[in-house]
Amino acid sequence: MENSKEMRTWLDDMALPHPLVIAGPCSAETEEQVLKIAHELKDTDVNYYRAGIWKPRTRPGNFEGVGAIGLKWLQKVKEETGLKTATEVANKAHVDLALEHDVDLLWIGARSTVSPFIMQELADALEGTDKIVLVKNPVNPDLSLWLGGIERLHTAGIKRLGAIHRGFSTYQKTKYRNIPEWQLAIEFQNRFPDLPLINDPSHITGKRDMIFDVSQTALDLNFDGLMIETHYDPDNAWSDAAQQVTPKALVQIMEDLRIRKETDEEAEYNAKLNNLRAQIDVIDNQLITTLGERMKVSDSIGALKKQKNVAVLQTNRWNAILGKMILEGESKGLSEEFVLRMFKAIHQESINHQEKILKA
Ligand code: PEP
Ligand code: MN
Repeated sequence: MENSKEMRTWLDDMALPHPLVIAGPCSAETEEQVLKIAHELKDTDVNYYRAGIWKPRTRPGNFEGVGAIGLKWLQKVKEETGLKTATEVANKAHVDLALEHDVDLLWIGARSTVSPFIMQELADALEGTDKIVLVKNPVNPDLSLWLGGIERLHTAGIKRLGAIHRGFSTYQKTKYRNIPEWQLAIEFQNRFPDLPLINDPSHITGKRDMIFDVSQTALDLNFDGLMIETHYDPDNAWSDAAQQVTPKALVQIMEDLRIRKETDEEAEYNAKLNNLRAQIDVIDNQLITTLGERMKVSDSIGALKKQKNVAVLQTNRWNAILGKMILEGESKGLSEEFVLRMFKAIHQESINHQEKILKA
């Protein structure tokens, strides 16, 4: 389904700009820290000021947030800078306190979205609110859990509803803290095309120097906004130090991003083209990852053959693979000639890998 975002729902009703920018520290640490960062973000593109008050930590003993006192600091942010405020809520008590202190945007963290019980508790507590509520994707790449959480909130009559893509936990070693799995975000947009989707490059990358790149991909994939952790002294932040940027760096990122305009026909064409190209980039990355995985399996076969002193090339097995893949390719609209050429190249690389192991 094309996702032209012609209906930006509450984003348009509230006359919010594109992209929506949510920035501020991972955690509220002290009143001074919260206010200092807010003042530095005051005259930038930032629309909502974020700060975690209650921090879900993997292990006890890490900084677990300042608690309700931080809500007073956020109120001060609003009074002194005019910035709207945002914080994470994870249970009914959090919701009640956040609403009492007039927080403008409440987000539900990845560790809460995984639990239908928590999501239902939050939906009940938030029932009928006119505050913005954003649901982060669950820690694990499970689209149904994410959609289910959104549906619970929708059923509770929350009108200003949206989602945050913050990547997914994986046991594999990757360059990301949480792998983006962009195809899941694309699928999410196809399922809920009118639901605003914000990208969180900070938690996806875990590293500040990768934030620009991920943000650009997100904008090319039609995301509606960005949530970027920002701190005046990132290295000494009490949580997520490696991924926070300074307010100055944030301004530079926003300046460098190619931001799509959605006004005239030309822009519409470019937007569609960028979107399709971004989808191609995602698929190409998957192809390379998959080929890399295939070669690793080849290496294991090489090691096994070495043990048994078996030859690398086994013609019968190879012909069987080719025959199967030509048929499979045909069913996907790929020519026999292309499948043959591609598999010859893959096979050659595979033989090279195994040879290397046998000779080692
Ligand atoms: C956060 O935004 O600081 C946070 C804890 O994020 P997540 O729920 O995505 O881990
Ligand atoms: Mn964080």
